[in-house]
Amino acid sequence: MVKKHMLLHPLIPINKETFFTSTEIYHHSVVEAYTYCRERNFVHLWGYLWINWYNRVDWNLFARASFPSAIPLARTTMLVESHWRVLKYNYKYNCNRPRLDRLTQILTKELIPDQISTWERFNNNREFPSWWGAFKSEWKKALDADIKSDDRYLTNVDTWICSCPAFIKNTYMVCKHLVKTYTDRDPTFPQYATTNRRHDHPFIRFGEACTRIDPANRPWSETSQSLFDETEGPMVLDEDNSLEISIHVRNELIESRIAGLVEDKKTFESLIAITSDNVQNDEFYNEYKKLTHTLVTETKACQEALMARSQQRTWNPPRNSRLAFRLN
Ligand SMILES: [Zn+2]
Repeated sequence: MVKKHMLLHPLIPINKETFFTSTEIYHHSVVEAYTYCRERNFVHLWGYLWINWYNRVDWNLFARASFPSAIPLARTTMLVESHWRVLKYNYKYNCNRPRLDRLTQILTKELIPDQISTWERFNNNREFPSWWGAFKSEWKKALDADIKSDDRYLTNVDTWICSCPAFIKNTYMVCKHLVKTYTDRDPTFPQYATTNRRHDHPFIRFGEACTRIDPANRPWSETSQSLFDETEGPMVLDEDNSLEISIHVRNELIESRIAGLVEDKKTFESLIAITSDNVQNDEFYNEYKKLTHTLVTETKACQEALMARSQQRTWNPPRNSRLAFRLN
């Protein structure tokens, strides 16, 4: 389930006519994970999932949907780690912690020329990168698979998307429906030189070389502001998607609450003053005690919760601490 949540993306349909937005994917994933834990009463599991994975900050670190306009080709940091391994064991194996000038020399005189010649071999079809073998075997597997003739899924070869569950899980964005539709159109087996994997629609393109990503979707040309809005905005947007208006409305609401609290403070102070004046009046005092009992217990529970070393409860609030349960 968590893997599925990680892989969902706004550019891939989840069924025949639905594409979720990033916010919807986040919302649905959190609700699904929460409901799973809630139904089985897995208190600690949900605590762990929320603290480490499903809160907004950590979600953005692991879910593909956190960047809505493109999908990375790699899912893990393995490529980078493998690059460090090559540099460490193939090039600087006999000098531990080299000086910076030696390291620069290793990079420019050894590693980069070797990389260039590898790329030239790829270009001349004399050697293939490791992903090509895996891609071919996925393609063959998809070609051999049987397809039931119902048309439950949205399959589009031009944008290279399919709404079946196999497509979203496949590393190379290949599924039997797409391969079948593509092969009906062009029965030749794809060649390395003409197969381009891309970050946005179409995810795989056959033909002459093209850019890996639509220039409009380049993450490094996006302003950081728009990413910030995407992550920090409220869950429900206005109809015309006007994020600024909803943030403005929210700020106004907070302002009015602060003003209300100032009023409350004055009221409570005058209540205490009136009660001190009537402290001899038994009936008045008993009535005052009864009325303020709930507020006083709630406040004490809040104070205890703020001082407590242990975690608060996960599901229902304990009696007499409804406020404390909702403390941040
Ligand atoms: Zn499919």
